[in-house]
Amino acid sequence: MRHFPIFVALDGRRVVVSGAGDCAVAKVRLLLKTDATISVYGSEPVGEMSRWAADGKVRLTERPIADGDATCAVLLYAANEDAAEDARAVEIGRRAGALTNIVDNLEDSQFITPAIVDRDPVTVAIGTEGAAPVLARSIKRDVEEMLPVTLGTLARIGQSFRKMAEVLPIGRVRRDFWSAFYFDRGPKALANGGGDAAEIALEDLLVDTINESVDPGHVALIGAGPGDPELLTMKARRFLHEADVVITDRLVGPGILELARREAEIIEVGKTGIGTSWKQEDINALIVDKAAEGAKVARLKGGDVAVFARLDEEIDALDANGIRWDIVPGITTASAAAATLGQSLTKRGRNSSVRLLTGHDVDGFADHDWRGLAAEGATAAIYMGKRAAKFLRGRLMMHGADGETPVTAVENASRPDQRIIESTLLDLPDAIAVTDGPVILMYGLAPRQAADTLTELEPRVEAL
Ligand code: SAH
Repeated sequence: MRHFPIFVALDGRRVVVSGAGDCAVAKVRLLLKTDATISVYGSEPVGEMSRWAADGKVRLTERPIADGDATCAVLLYAANEDAAEDARAVEIGRRAGALTNIVDNLEDSQFITPAIVDRDPVTVAIGTEGAAPVLARSIKRDVEEMLPVTLGTLARIGQSFRKMAEVLPIGRVRRDFWSAFYFDRGPKALANGGGDAAEIALEDLLVDTINESVDPGHVALIGAGPGDPELLTMKARRFLHEADVVITDRLVGPGILELARREAEIIEVGKTGIGTSWKQEDINALIVDKAAEGAKVARLKGGDVAVFARLDEEIDALDANGIRWDIVPGITTASAAAATLGQSLTKRGRNSSVRLLTGHDVDGFADHDWRGLAAEGATAAIYMGKRAAKFLRGRLMMHGADGETPVTAVENASRPDQRIIESTLLDLPDAIAVTDGPVILMYGLAPRQAADTLTELEPRVEAL
């Protein structure tokens, strides 16, 4: 972030504009939304500027800006549409200690004016560091659509009511109250009966909220997908956005956590890797405690919640404490890895079933239907298989599997540092020794292109 967004108080303060042509008019039109004292310097003002001057909205001096003209100014806009004149104006502004902006010249400006959605007192500023004006415009359009034009009026009514709303407990109850006002009852009342009706609606809503028993907590058990935030479901996103507390596994990527509200409490309960390690019972207790306090909890797990994620233990703990919960399925790593390989998990004539296996279970290396897996065409996605690779190879070959069976490891599936390692059952343990991120083994699957010309038997590492 090269530009840090702030909102500058301009009430009664000076803003100087150098230039009185069309470009200056465009800036002054924005500035007129504030109560700044606007001083414009420029010969040959266009009609609109002269009219504003005549109406007393701006102070127009019909000559080029001169030294001393920017005294006490907070901001100075150079809008002369003439590079030399703009540079001169900026010098004058800087000497006076004002922050300076040259219209349409990002590099030489000390501040930039964002695209603005105005629902005063709600103002949304959109900046792209000058990189993508088209994007800014399209975001502005979306935000305009999202925020009803009446929002400003409602916000003002809300503002005068803030003190009264303090009877509601801080947190979700109060937030829900305001959101019901701004997005439901408020707009309806305003449309039917204007500002007075909206004020009454707000009072009624407060009484209703006080009367309603405080909602007990809730836990959304969410599959956050393999890492790419775009592989999150919309439902996951909504629950995440509404959560007061986010309890997350280490496998969940940072891009996903950014979708939580800024005030949300985020607790990482990773069970592997460096740092503190959480026991499952402690995680269960934490989820139960937070929900029992009335919080909306988003319990995030990598991939799908129902695949090797100890979902049932958490549900049992919630049920034992009478806490409501929902499951939000996610994209499991096997699906993401198959997509990376350009392969189907099942294919007519090749494999009519696919197994999701774990390399490890509570007793150590997990036992499986080795004979079935050793059969030709058998396909399996093996989770937590890295340390079990030698064991898997031994068991499978002992039961007749061909050493040349393709096994493709996908490390960090769907993340920017994703890596595909093509190998065979025989070479697997050595081939995956290079990995250090989470790895899924796709047994019986080679990447699509390689599968067509499977001549290469040496393990190959491919950085994407
Ligand atoms: N619930 C998860 C699996 C959790 S078990 C899911 O549905 O995907 C943890 C194992 O999942 C890891 O040891 C690794 O084998 C695999 N895994 C999780 N995320 C991964 C990723 N982005 N890339 C590769 N493997 C991953």
